Amino acid sequence: MSSTKRIFLSSPHMTGNEQDYIKEAFDLNWIAPLGNHVGAFEQELADYVGVDHAAAVSSGTAAIHLALRLLDVQQGDTLFCSSLTFVASANPILYEKAEPVLIDSEPDTWNMAPEALERALRDADKTGHLPKAVIVVNLYGQSAKMKELADLCETYDVPMIEDAAESLGSEYDGRKSGSFGTFGIFSFNGNKIITTSGGGMLTSNDEAMIQKARFLSTQARDPALHYQHSEVGFNYRMSNIVAGIGRAQLEAIDLRVQQRRNVFTRYQEALGEIDGIDFMPELPGTHSNRWLTALTVDPDKTGIDRTAIIQALAEDNIEARPVWKPLHRQPLFEEYRYYPFQEDDSVSDKLFEYGMCLPSGSNMEAEDQERVIQKMLAALKA
Ligand SMILES: *Cc1c(COP(=O)(O)O)cnc(C)c1O
Repeated sequence: MSSTKRIFLSSPHMTGNEQDYIKEAFDLNWIAPLGNHVGAFEQELADYVGVDHAAAVSSGTAAIHLALRLLDVQQGDTLFCSSLTFVASANPILYEKAEPVLIDSEPDTWNMAPEALERALRDADKTGHLPKAVIVVNLYGQSAKMKELADLCETYDVPMIEDAAESLGSEYDGRKSGSFGTFGIFSFNGNKIITTSGGGMLTSNDEAMIQKARFLSTQARDPALHYQHSEVGFNYRMSNIVAGIGRAQLEAIDLRVQQRRNVFTRYQEALGEIDGIDFMPELPGTHSNRWLTALTVDPDKTGIDRTAIIQALAEDNIEARPVWKPLHRQPLFEEYRYYPFQEDDSVSDKLFEYGMCLPSGSNMEAEDQERVIQKMLAALKA
C-alpha cells in the first residue's frame, strides 16, 4: 500500500455548527433520549422534504422496519423490493418472516423497472396474493420513475415505501425525493450525503402513523404511571445529541447536493468521452444529488474491466467500489422470486458486472479528485 493520503468513497463532512447544537443539549442536560433537538430535526426534515410528519429513529433500517410494522406485515406476506440496492432495504422483510419478491432495474434510472413491477403485480393479483407494500429505492441519489411506479401501486391499491436513504435532496418532477410513497425513509449513516454518525427518519403525511412509529420506537409503552405494555416495541428512537448533529447537517444539504454534483461533473468532463465509459444517467425531469458518481465500464471497448480498475485505484490508496450486488444474487435472497426487466434481460445483473462507484465526498479536495482522474486515465490507457 502506498503512503499517499487515502481517498474515501464518501466521508463525513461537518459544517462546524454541529458542536453548537451538541453544546446546547449539554447545557440543558438533554442528553438522554428525547429533547428539543429531536422534535426540531423532525420538523425541519419534514419541511425540507415537503411532507407533513417525520419520526427520528436510530437508523434507516429501523425506519424501514417500522414502516413494515405500521403496514401490519405478517409472516407469509410478500413485499416487493428493488433488487439493485443495499441489503438494508430488504432485511426488515426477513425480520418479519415475510417473503421478498425482487424487482429488476431499467436502464434510464438504474432503478425499479415499471415493466417488471407491472408483471409482478399482475401475477400476484391473479393468485390473490398482492404484496403488503412495494419498497422502491432511489439508487445513488437518482429518483426512480415515480409517476409510473406510483400509478401501478395505486392501480393495485398497494402502498409504496420510498427508500430515499441515498437520495436526500434529490428531486423528481420538482418534488423532493422521499415524498412520493405512503412512507419515505432516510438514513444519516456515516457515508450518506449528510450524517449524524448514525440515524434515520421515517416520513409520512399520515400523522397517526408517525405517532404510532414514535410509540413503537420507544418500547410501545402504554399511557400509565407504571410501565405497561400490550404490544411489542423497539428501542429505535434517535437521541437528542444525534438530532443536534442532524440539524446542523441539514442546514447544509443544498450546498452538499451542489458539491456532489460538481464532483460528478468533473469526472464526466474528464472521462465522459472515453469509448466504453458510460455515466449513470439522470432522467429528464429529475435532479439527482449524485450521492455517488457511478459509471459502467465495457471491457470490450476499454480493454480493462471494472474490477481491475478498482484494484488499480486501491493500489494508490483510493477507495472505489462495484455497484451494489443485486439482492437476487445474494446467498441470503437467492431462494426468492425475481422479476427481470424483460423475460430474458436482467438489467441489474449487467450493472453489477460493469458498474463501479468513484470517490464522491462533498469534502474531497480538487487535487484529490485529480489524482483519481489521473489513475483512471492511466488504467484505461486513455
Ligand atoms: C444506507 C441505506 C439504508 C440503511 O440505512 P442505515 O441508516 O445504514 O440503516 C437503506 N437503504 C439504502 C438504499 C441505503 O443506502
